[in-house]
Amino acid sequence: MSVHTMETLSLFNSEPYRRAFGARVIAVVDQAVVLEHTLFYPTGGGQPGDTGYFSLVDGTRIAVTGTVRDPLLPSIIWHQVQECPPQLCTGALLNASLDWQRRYQHMKMHTCLHLLGALIDAPVTGCSISADKGRLDFDLPEMTLDKERITRDLNALIERACPINVLTLPAAEYPALQEKIGSKSSRPPAIQGDLRVIEVAGIDLQPCGGTHVLNTREIGRVYCEKIEKKSQHNRRVTLRFA
Ligand SMILES: [Zn+2]
Repeated sequence: MSVHTMETLSLFNSEPYRRAFGARVIAVVDQAVVLEHTLFYPTGGGQPGDTGYFSLVDGTRIAVTGTVRDPLLPSIIWHQVQECPPQLCTGALLNASLDWQRRYQHMKMHTCLHLLGALIDAPVTGCSISADKGRLDFDLPEMTLDKERITRDLNALIERACPINVLTLPAAEYPALQEKIGSKSSRPPAIQGDLRVIEVAGIDLQPCGGTHVLNTREIGRVYCEKIEKKSQHNRRVTLRFA
């Protein structure tokens, strides 16, 4: 298979709660492996790439230390591996397992950042997620934010137990839907075709390619750890799991 026709089918969007899968290897270059399909989320949108391990048919277990999209051909997803024994080759079958605890923390914090973005009336200019914390940067010249109020309001939204829905809709329909629910989130990216839009029922609506939980209650309690002034216009709000 030529690298230009190669493609990794993404399973993480349609099956965000699945933790393991079988797959065939379609390319191995240096210490990176492409599979025909994958549950491993590749680094993007502030969410880190997944880690986990591969089990080869002879029982060899190989750590997957990160997952990234190919910078030139983004439909290809590379799994970075700790070692590359000869039996890990094109055509080989393997079983792959996510570090689920880490990924689930990412899903919870990612969903929580949708709530934070809905609470604060300012454009989001940056996003970063890890297993124990997450942060958003806001374009907000005035210092109007308060840690205690953010903590209280976020936990109130979480406790409302709102479902998170994944919608697929033509890009042209997004502004009308956004107006209907009164969402003040960012404008959709200028792309052709369908958008993957994440709706936190009654709270937030925005295009997003990340992984999310099914209900806000899964997030658990969080607190606003700090609010920093990173530049004249930039306020950085950091959250942690309580
Ligand atoms: Zn998202």
